[in-house]
Amino acid sequence: MEFEVTVARKTDVLVVGGGCAGLAAAICAARHGAKVLLAEAGSCLGGMGTAGLVGPFMTCYDPAGERQVIKGIYDEFVRRMAARKGAIPPEDCHAGDSYCGYRIPGHDHCASFSAESFKAVAEDLCEEAGVELLYGALFLRAVMNEAGDIITGAVFATKMGLIQIDARQVIDCTGDGDVAAASGAPFLYGDDAGLTQPSSLFFTIRGVDKAKLEKLRTETGRSESIFFQKEIMQEMEEGRYHVPRNKVAIYECPDGTFRVNMSRVQMHNGLDPFEVTRATVAARRQIPEIMDLLRRIVPGCEQIELVQTASVLGQRETRRIEGDFVLTGEDLRHSRHFEDDVFIAGNSIDMHGGNSVNYQPAKGAAYGVPYRILLPAKVKNLLVAGRAASMDREALAAIRVMPPVFAMGQAAGTAAAMCIAENTEPAQVDIGTLRDLLRADDVVLE
Ligand SMILES: Cc1cc2nc3c(=O)[nH]c(=O)nc-3n(C[C@H](O)[C@H](O)[C@H](O)COP(=O)(O)OP(=O)(O)OC[C@H]3O[C@@H](n4cnc5c(N)ncnc54)[C@H](O)[C@@H]3O)c2cc1C
Repeated sequence: MEFEVTVARKTDVLVVGGGCAGLAAAICAARHGAKVLLAEAGSCLGGMGTAGLVGPFMTCYDPAGERQVIKGIYDEFVRRMAARKGAIPPEDCHAGDSYCGYRIPGHDHCASFSAESFKAVAEDLCEEAGVELLYGALFLRAVMNEAGDIITGAVFATKMGLIQIDARQVIDCTGDGDVAAASGAPFLYGDDAGLTQPSSLFFTIRGVDKAKLEKLRTETGRSESIFFQKEIMQEMEEGRYHVPRNKVAIYECPDGTFRVNMSRVQMHNGLDPFEVTRATVAARRQIPEIMDLLRRIVPGCEQIELVQTASVLGQRETRRIEGDFVLTGEDLRHSRHFEDDVFIAGNSIDMHGGNSVNYQPAKGAAYGVPYRILLPAKVKNLLVAGRAASMDREALAAIRVMPPVFAMGQAAGTAAAMCIAENTEPAQVDIGTLRDLLRADDVVLE
């Protein structure tokens, strides 16, 4: 049965998905002169950073923690949030402090923020740039040209039925590569056996006695004393704790509440809505057990209360497009740079699996992230920014965090606006001009 589809808008650039990548892409494309529509399935911007309650913003500094290397729209965003007391800027968050989850390697200069401030700043910046927002619009289908290599429109499920948005350039920021997959671009999913990193449902708590918690750190002289790894392993062995994550992971927010990243569920297919629903319910059911554990074993957490659980399960990994170029963990480890770098980063490889994390702290100089990871094969007028860009699992485990994702969005949005102005395709964009525009917009490239 064919459903009736109404063409609701024609736009230059259609951005699908309003997480960090999507909002950055939309704002930057609009600032560079394109008419932009940003379509989002939910009812707020920010994706994982808001509906997912994920935070803090991971580091935007080089591996030595000496130089801020991710700036541009990310930096502007954090400073707008900080001005309304919704964020602690990166220079004021230090390795080992509560804002960085008491973590040291790879965690210098994270930035703590509140999800509510994120939502408000994102909507303000979109409005100021002239981005048209469309909430409650779930992307379903790509409308292709006859040759099947150009997207002419996208169909969304809405309360008004199916609507179509026609566009000249499309940027897939769904995190899951939904548009890329629907338009026939090749993609990969998980490891060789199709297994992905586990998922977690964030929640926030109040009532942490920080002084008591930090006394322990001072007494032992070890930041890791706050992770209670040995105690949790023992609780697991003795059958008192069943959540498959063996470390305390709590991060202070600007308002004194803490986010908790300790639930963990493994899915086979993070795109199957029935499985995602079951996993979300299972993760939410872990929360009382985690709260109980914290109250029992962590000094300073005896009186904690639950504030909120995330409304969306945090999936670390689903689809990755298979572009002509694939950024690898090796590229990051060797601090490689490319002629088409659109930003540089110093984020560590943070690979979750089983009940633990394989964390490889970034070392040496910052590495480059090239424009080509945003280009899917086969579809000529599509860019993919964020979690689904073209990279192997190790590179994904590093640059899936929010500051690099903002930077990917900035590059994609700027390139899409160039395509509109010059009537060209993303793969034909002049890299020198793109890099000049990014540099002028405060992006660090060297
Ligand atoms: C458990 C966990 C812990 C993490 N910890 C940190 C951390 O401490 N610090 C950090 O910086 N990063 C962290 N990250 C990583 C980071 O939060 C995400 O990788 C990043 O935010 C992804 O951004 P995105 O814009 O690519 O996707 P998302 O934030 O997922 O945004 C995608 C948006 O697209 C929308 N969407 C999806 N499909 C459709 C569709 N078909 N139609 C319309 N809209 C659609 C979604 O509703 C969403 O708003 C963590 C991630 C997870 C899962």
